[in-house]
Amino acid sequence: MAAKLIVQCGVCGTEFELPDDVMDGEITSCPTCGARYIVRVRGNSVSLEEFKGDVEDYGQ
Ligand SMILES: [Zn+2]
Repeated sequence: MAAKLIVQCGVCGTEFELPDDVMDGEITSCPTCGARYIVRVRGNSVSLEEFKGDVEDYGQ
């Protein structure tokens, strides 16, 4: 149950950890280059999907 959710940025290759309560569909960004991704949770594994939405409108 203590598995860490490590994902890798497809742009710069940085590996970073997601919070263990991350939810499917959540937006995250690479701490190194700032590339944005949608988190996809499948069981106990996570992956990143390229975020193509309008960043300017998100969370306003
Ligand atoms: Zn990156």
